[in-house]
Amino acid sequence: MKEFRFRCTRCGNCCSDKNTIVNLTCFDILRIRNGLNLSIEEILEVIGFYIFDKETINEEHKMVVSPIETERGLAFIGLLKKDSGFCYFYNDSEKKCFIYDLRPIFCRTFPFSFNLIFSKSNKTSAKIKMFYTEKGKQYCPGIGVDAPLINEDKWIELGKQTIEELNNNEILIEKWNKAVKLGQVTPTVKSFLLTIFNIKKTNQD
Ligand code: SF4
Ligand code: SF4
Repeated sequence: MKEFRFRCTRCGNCCSDKNTIVNLTCFDILRIRNGLNLSIEEILEVIGFYIFDKETINEEHKMVVSPIETERGLAFIGLLKKDSGFCYFYNDSEKKCFIYDLRPIFCRTFPFSFNLIFSKSNKTSAKIKMFYTEKGKQYCPGIGVDAPLINEDKWIELGKQTIEELNNNEILIEKWNKAVKLGQVTPTVKSFLLTIFNIKKTNQD
């Protein structure tokens, strides 16, 4: 396996990238909501529903979390940003994340990403492959040659949990989008949030 080196220098680059939406899974939303004890109105002050036209969803906008159907069109869910480009939860004076223990999975895994590689001979067996993300390579000073080698077992375990959470999230989004198409739910953001607030398991249990 390739050697990976990383130690976060707390430079804040990944919390201030204007061109990236910090995508949220339904479980991220639940963890933040439960951890901070937020009402639906308060949650709407920290997360955004970023609308894109179907035609403009190209490689540039391709994300691991699928968009949800809303009354205004397809929307990606992400943390809101301040005018400066910093994440809503970034504490600029202390140079740290306000919600470190509750931070979304994309923040937890940065600057790494993970893939499942299936064995050619046995399609039921798969291994986790990890790699540096393009953004990580672009602006994360924590992956320099001077950084220590990572604890691979710990990161691979996080990778497994991440892939499982993303898969469960895709199932929920698919269900929601289908219900919208069939006219079974009103596609408002409030109604979406109420639906996911009823999920008991948060992947943190
Ligand atoms: S860009 Fe890298 S070093 Fe800087 S805060 Fe993010 S993870 Fe840490
Ligand atoms: S949630 Fe925390 S770690 Fe993630 S982008 Fe915002 S400030 Fe940074």
